Formats: sequence, C-alpha cells, structure tokens
Amino acid sequence: MSIKKYLQSLQKLLPNTLLEQIQYLHSSLLLRWILSSKSQPVAFSQKSAMVFSPHQDDETFGCGGLIALKREYGIPVVVIFLTDGGSTGHTEPNSQNQIIQIRKQEALTALGILGVPSSAIHFLEKPDGTLLNLKNQERQQTITRIAELLQKYQPEEVYVPHHKDCHRDHEATYELVKEAIPQAKITVELIQYPIWLFWRAPLFIMLKLQDIAAVYHLSIAPVQDKKHRAISSYCSQIQSLPSGFIQRFLGSTEIFFKSES
Ligand SMILES: [Zn+2]
Repeated sequence: MSIKKYLQSLQKLLPNTLLEQIQYLHSSLLLRWILSSKSQPVAFSQKSAMVFSPHQDDETFGCGGLIALKREYGIPVVVIFLTDGGSTGHTEPNSQNQIIQIRKQEALTALGILGVPSSAIHFLEKPDGTLLNLKNQERQQTITRIAELLQKYQPEEVYVPHHKDCHRDHEATYELVKEAIPQAKITVELIQYPIWLFWRAPLFIMLKLQDIAAVYHLSIAPVQDKKHRAISSYCSQIQSLPSGFIQRFLGSTEIFFKSES
C-alpha cells in the first residue's frame, strides 16, 4: 500500500463509535498533556539496542522512529518477537497458520523499511495471548532463551512494553525480559514504550508520580516518513485495530519511560 493510499485509508479509521471517540479524546488529551508539560526531550543516543515486541507491529508503533534513526547511523538494533501473532479471532487452524505467516512477512517488510536486516530479527513464536499464563517450565525456557539472546548481542539499551500497558502479552513481555536480564549477567538500560497505555488506562489513577517523572520524548521527525511506511506494511493489522488508535503513532515524537534498574 502506498503511503498516500494508507493516509487516505486512515481518514476512514477516525473513531466512529462513542466508546472509540471517548478513547480517542482521552488518549489525545493525555498525550498532549504529557508532551507539553511532563516529559523531557531527550537527545538521540548512539547506543546499540534490543527491542522486545509481543506482537508483529508493537515494535514499529512504539519504537519505529527510534529504530530507523539508530539504523541510519549504522547502530545495531535487534528485534525479538515473543508471540506468533496468531490470535486474531481466527478459529480454523488454516486461517490461523495463514495469519501467522502474513504477520511474520509484514514484520520483515516493516523492519526492512526501518533498516533492520532479517538476520537481526528473531521470532520466539509463543502462542498469541498466552504469555502471562505460560506453564512454569515453558516460562523458564522462554526466560533462558531471552537471556541467551541478550548475552549474544550484548545490547546497551533494551526496549520493552510498559509494565502497565493494559494488555496481558505486553505486561508479560516486560516481566519475562526483566527476569532474563540478571540471568544474562549484563548491564543494560531498560526502557519502556507505551502502546495501549494511553488508549485503555485511566492514566491518572494507574500511574504513580514517579512513573510520570520518568517520561521522556524523542524527536523522530527525520525518519517519520519511514515509520509511516513501516506502519503501512502491517496491512492485516491496520483494519483490525480500533478506529483512531493508530493516529497517536503517526506524530513526530515517540514516548518512553525510564525504568528503575
Ligand atoms: Zn501487541
């Protein structure tokens, strides 16, 4: 899909139900408030990064600009997908396998646009929607696998979804990575990116003052077009996400939360 067609299709994605209109307004107001008075601008860092993404699209929505900026400077960025992305309401095995393959291909295309080679992309292929309820042994194996990847690539920065991101797989991704870091015996900066947080959370209730104090924003203006093109690669997702949701990710900044280490 060309970016022009994509932007045209976004017009159709403006919120249409009352709930979506409220969520859209809520998330827009929160975002404006955070950007204008609570978050600090941060200079682009030249540190290598590993981005953990629960599903095939979160990395681009949350960190697409950051990834593209780093890659333009030749800085290593590795992306790890935790789930197979197969749970989108398809009950028949064939359609589920099909959507898994489609989402994998979309991820490779999107990350190719952002400058990440396929050799730096890993799919852990856990069933979509199950990360929070992995059986003990499988959970330990997943943590060990994450620790091995951290050891192998030794990233200086690690990006994970926000620990209160209002989505089970997203919050579980944070926990799994947080547990894997000490196992990998490396020192990293753990940085959280919000996906559903502004959309679903009654933020003033959920976030503590120290959370808000840890917010910063990065200008991604030079690579905004690349991010839009990468988002438009996720054709299978664009139509299934709530109307108005994607708008937040089309701006010239990305928001991150520093983690206490
Ligand atoms: Zn997700």
